[in-house]
Parts: sequence; structure tokens; C-alpha cells
Amino acid sequence: MSKNKVLNYINGEWQPSATADYIDVVNPATQENLGRTPLSSAKEVDDAVQAAAAALVEWRQTPSTDRIQYLFKLKNLLEENFEELARTITMECGKTLGESRGELRRAIENVEVACGIPLMMQGHVSEDIASGIDELMIRQPVGVCAAITPFNFPSMIVFWFMPYALACGNTYIVKPSEKVPLTMKKIFQLLDQVGFPKGVVNLVNGAKEAVDAILDHPTIRGISFVGSTPIAKYVYTKGSANGKRVQAQGGAKNPIVVLPDADMEMAKQITADSAFGCAGQRCLAGSVAVTVGESQGPFTEAIMEAANSRVVGYGLDEKVQMGTVINAQSVNRIESLIQQGVDEGAKLIVDGRSASIPDYGKGSFMRPTVLENVDPAGTLAQTEIFGPVLSLIHVNTIDDAIQFVNSGQYGNMACLFTASGAAARKFRYEVNAGNIGINVGVAAPMAFFPFSGWKDSFFGVLHGQGRHAVEFFTQTKVVVERWPKEWSRKF
Ligand code: NAD
Repeated sequence: MSKNKVLNYINGEWQPSATADYIDVVNPATQENLGRTPLSSAKEVDDAVQAAAAALVEWRQTPSTDRIQYLFKLKNLLEENFEELARTITMECGKTLGESRGELRRAIENVEVACGIPLMMQGHVSEDIASGIDELMIRQPVGVCAAITPFNFPSMIVFWFMPYALACGNTYIVKPSEKVPLTMKKIFQLLDQVGFPKGVVNLVNGAKEAVDAILDHPTIRGISFVGSTPIAKYVYTKGSANGKRVQAQGGAKNPIVVLPDADMEMAKQITADSAFGCAGQRCLAGSVAVTVGESQGPFTEAIMEAANSRVVGYGLDEKVQMGTVINAQSVNRIESLIQQGVDEGAKLIVDGRSASIPDYGKGSFMRPTVLENVDPAGTLAQTEIFGPVLSLIHVNTIDDAIQFVNSGQYGNMACLFTASGAAARKFRYEVNAGNIGINVGVAAPMAFFPFSGWKDSFFGVLHGQGRHAVEFFTQTKVVVERWPKEWSRKF
């Protein structure tokens, strides 16, 4: 079935990989085989790097006002192909169409923000730092850069980085998740239509060998990674040791705290969307709800109702509210973590295991699951489950809740539901997480704010999106100039 093989895009050409190693891309709802991802070799990464390095010479000299014209075209093509891209995301990744549209919208917003590069990458100048001497700081592109991305947002995550990299004058290589290569394939068909000069954007499909080749390649200057924490640590450590700038976003375990004065209907609705949206496979999924004081009874009852009533099915059906997890191994992993939690003393109050969806009997489905009496130091409360599982913990005060929130390994997001400004301020001030939601359950920063993970959710200094991305994709150069006044007397 060679026509199903996904191609690489190197130096402006679609090319088959020379590898004999492929993995199947499977629709997690229908189990239909959608294609085959080549596990490209280090040689293919090198081909892409050589193309990107050659293209860099002219691309960095292209005025930024001209570079962004390509992004305007890309934005229009993404809009024109919006529905087809959303369907592709749903088919290979399993989320609902609404969720696919949502991630695509954020991808496009990042293209729009990157169109402001002529202003955002300006440097600054001080005249007369000493008599007749001026000092300038200018921003120049870093060089050849690469993105390595996870399965759960097949379109959006590349856009936290790539539009800024290109607009700043860098050339680029994308290594998408081998589990979901088809969305990026379609996006590269659009990049091809945009007509970027050959070698400015390149796509190399693959897994560990391709990642290692990116980490070791001496010509690659910047790496953006998003994925699980152990691989983020590995990429950060190895890439930095090789002298590259690296930003590596890792896993998460996001708590949601509910105070007794919260609007319970709102807290229930938003927490359910956070925990069960994208079947819990969001790095900003709420996965532990901490009830404080008297919120326990009403919140527990409300969230059980929300979990039980969520419509689970094939994401292409517009009525469906929750799709699949990524594959059968994931279902097994999540169900065994639930069992481990039960063995540690948690009580299953909504059991979503062994889900069977009419017409999709072989799909990788789970239903929302809720457990109470969860041990704050145990498996359910501390492990990233990455599935539609909400653990409930009860404490007496907001201080106890903040102590629990800060006890974890991760720091991607923490949320609070309350009607009190003072409590909200205390939470925002004391919590050790990079993204905070107040009466918000998925605190996903807009494209003009950094995606700010902390602790084991992020390794590096500059995050994706907005000004952070501009800083990541430029290096500063400082020039000190002396032009003696006497010299001007010649004219
Ligand atoms: P993953 O770490 O398995 O894979 C991510 C990337 O790393 C893929 O491109 C993969 O090919 C590559 N990779 C995997 N194993 C490797 C290895 N041994 N050596 C070198 N490269 C390797 O992650 P995933 O399962 O695709 O995605 C889910 C994870 O991503 C979750 O932990 C989730 O929290 C995290 N995530 C984080 C954010 C964030 O912003 N912090 C956003 C989305 C997803």
C-alpha cells in the first residue's frame, strides 16, 4: 500500500523516505488504517538541514515586511481549508470536530500574531552613551531551527513556534508525532501552495532516530519540543549539551480548586469540560478537583451528573461531546492507573472503563471516570493519566488546597473557582504553576501571551507564542559605534 506512505517535504519537494521502517496511522474510533508513517533516518534529517541552511542565506536577507506576506497567504489558505483540516485532526487523533476546530483556530491566531514581526523584532538604540558614541541592539535570526511535537494537538503546537521562526528570518524543520502525521502533511501542502522559497520549511516524519539526529546536528541552532516530561528532559539535556537553545514543554497534572462560595453550576460545567474535553488528553486538562469545606457535597453530586451525561462517540458526529483516546495501549494504561488508585483506597463513583460505543466496538473509547477519597500523595493524584479521569480530593481550607497544588512535580496549570477577589489574588500569588485559571478551567494563553509551564512541565527559559517566541527565534547583537564629529566637517 505504498500510496498510503506519508512523504517527507524537503527542499520544496515531496520525497519518499528511504527507510524500511513504517508505523501505521490508525483512526482510533473506526480502526481504519489511514496511512503509514516512515521512521526517517538521520540522513533524511541531514538532507532537510542542508536544504534549510542553504535557504537561510536569502531568507534572512528578505525584508521582514516581505516575509510576512507568506504568512498572510498561509492564514488565508488555512481558513479556506479549515473544515478539511479539522476533519483530518479528528480522524487521526480522535477528538471531537469542535475540539479540532478550536485547536486550528489557535494555530491561525499564532500566524496572525507573527505577522506583527516587523514591529516585534525591532531592536533599540541609545545615542551618546559617551560623547559621539551610540549603541544599538539589533535582533537577528538564530539560523536553522526545528520543532518536535506530540500527538494530542496535531496542528496547533507547531504553530506556537513555526510562524515566529519564519517571520524572524529562520528556516525550519518540523518533526510531527509519528502517531498523527496526516494533519501536518496537509498543512505542508498548504505551505507548498504558499510558495515559500525552497528549503525554508521542511517536514521530516519519524521517531527517535529523527529526534536524535535533530539533537546532534551541528547546524541546527534552536529546538522547540512539546511532549511528555521524560522526553522533554532528554531533549533539553542533550540539545543544550550540544550548544543549542532549547525550549521543552513537558507533561502536566492540573489541579482545580473549588471554594464553597463558587458558582457551583459554572464550576461543574467548566471542570467537566476541562477534565473530559479532548478525552483528558490536553496538557491543560484538569485532572484533580480539590473541594474546600462545604463545596464537597454539591460539587461531587454535580460533577457525577456531568460525567454520566457526557455524550461519547465518534468525533465526526457533531452531537458527540467526547471522542476517543489515542489508541488501545492508552486505554489499557489509563484503566490500570484507575485500578491502582482503587487499590490505594480511592472510591470509583463514575466508572468509565470498558466503554462500548454502538457501531464503534473496536474503537479506543473510555467514558468519563470520577474517583473520590483519592490519596493526595498517591498514584491518581500525582501521575499524569492523560485520559478522561477526574480525581476528587477534599480539604478544609484554601491554604491546605494551595499546599496540595504546590506539592506536585508539575506546574503547567492550576485553576480556582470562587466569587472572592481576595481568594483569587492569594491563589494567583502563591501557586507554583505557569498558567492560572480563575473561574476558567483550561487557562490556555492566547497567541500573544507565552505558554508558561513551570517545574517539570517546562525546561528552558523562553516559552512558545508571542514575545517569548520572538526572543527565542532571534539572537541579540549589540553594536557600539564611534563616529567622531570632526569627520563630518569634510562634507
Ligand atoms: P511523547 O513524549 O511520547 O512524544 C513527543 C515527541 O517526542 C514525538 O514527536 C515523539 O516522536 C518524540 N519521542 C518519543 N519518544 C522519544 C524518545 N525516546 N526519544 C526521542 N524522541 C522521542 O509525547 P506524546 O505522547 O506524543 O504527547 C503527550 C504528552 O505531551 C503528554 O505528557 C502531554 O502532557 C504533553 N504535552 C505537553 C504540552 C505542554 O504544553 N506542556 C502540550 C501538549 C502535550
